[in-house]
Amino acid sequence: MLLNLLEYHWAEDIDDALLLLSRTDIKTVPLAGGTYLLGQADVGTQFIASDIEAVVDLRDLQLSYIKEDAQMIHIGAMTTLQNMADAPLLKNSADGVLARAAQASSFSRLLRNSATLGGTIGVGVASQADLLTALSVMDAEVVLRSGSQTSVNLGGGQRAGQSFAPTGIVYKGKHERRLAFHSFALEHRPNELIIEVRIPRPGTTASGAFERVGRTPTDVALLNAVALVAVQDEVYQRVRLALGGVNMEPVRLYAIEQQLEGKPADVGAQFIASLVQASMADVRLPSDFRASSGYRHVCGINLVNRVLEEATNGSRWRGKFSGKRA
Ligand SMILES: Cc1cc2nc3c(=O)[nH]c(=O)nc-3n(C[C@H](O)[C@H](O)[C@H](O)COP(=O)(O)OP(=O)(O)OC[C@H]3O[C@@H](n4cnc5c(N)ncnc54)[C@H](O)[C@@H]3O)c2cc1C
Repeated sequence: MLLNLLEYHWAEDIDDALLLLSRTDIKTVPLAGGTYLLGQADVGTQFIASDIEAVVDLRDLQLSYIKEDAQMIHIGAMTTLQNMADAPLLKNSADGVLARAAQASSFSRLLRNSATLGGTIGVGVASQADLLTALSVMDAEVVLRSGSQTSVNLGGGQRAGQSFAPTGIVYKGKHERRLAFHSFALEHRPNELIIEVRIPRPGTTASGAFERVGRTPTDVALLNAVALVAVQDEVYQRVRLALGGVNMEPVRLYAIEQQLEGKPADVGAQFIASLVQASMADVRLPSDFRASSGYRHVCGINLVNRVLEEATNGSRWRGKFSGKRA
């Protein structure tokens, strides 16, 4: 509950939203789908809801879109999880891992119709969204914008007798930057607005795989794994692999990625199984009331083997039968 809310702004323009969010005298936050923000307790959570004095509603900022250009797929921050799950562009890229992860992130269609990409990234781990793991293997970048407002008084420099004395001139500035998705949680600043997420186009031979384990099929994922593999001329050209799940940051498995890139795609299941087993020894998975770290470790080894095998086979098949190159 936002018990101390004093202002509600329905922004019609991104620059207006940035100026409102840049204020330091009144704690102002963006409002997207509201599924997380409005359900917050007043104390003891990531956000202290009772501190929030103003919200800026983003729904009219034209930030709900999914489009592509020659290099990138662009997904606007206000795109809902349901729109991502339904988008043909995402369904047809890398076996639809992003669309499938968006669908799995919340099994309630009601929530998926409101919850947005920007809100999910804004909440981070607490959203419990499978989407975060998929974004980390897609090498996603988050585009952020912030605004500033500076009042300058030029009156002191006027010559005596001059009639016009400019005072209180307001300079409005804005700044845009891009952050790699994996560094977003550490590096983003509180007044920055997520504008969109950019994902390099995976290429026609890239194949993806997504697997999850939950207590029930509709529960949050105790653990999930996503792989993105591109095989060219029967050689691993690109391997991206991550594990995620409830209450954990996605973990990229760089050791496995680096060991496989450049190797022949027919190294064999035995080689991959030993590689995964050895690399997982260095990965620390959390323990909580849902599952122990040991259980997650065993699940993780199985999931990683499965997604790697599925994505490798998918990419080899595409390479052979599509006749196209990534
Ligand atoms: C009962 C319940 C259970 C849920 N369970 C799950 C679940 O299991 N898995 C799951 O994925 N989701 C779940 N959700 C939904 C989850 O809250 C959303 O996935 C998402 O985290 C919030 O998206 P939103 O658009 O509603 O964001 P909001 O609630 O509007 O905002 C969330 C935070 O992000 C900030 N923010 C929003 N947009 C931007 C932006 N463009 N730039 C910068 N900051 C921004 C807000 O200021 C706020 O701090 C659940 C929701 C509820 C109510």
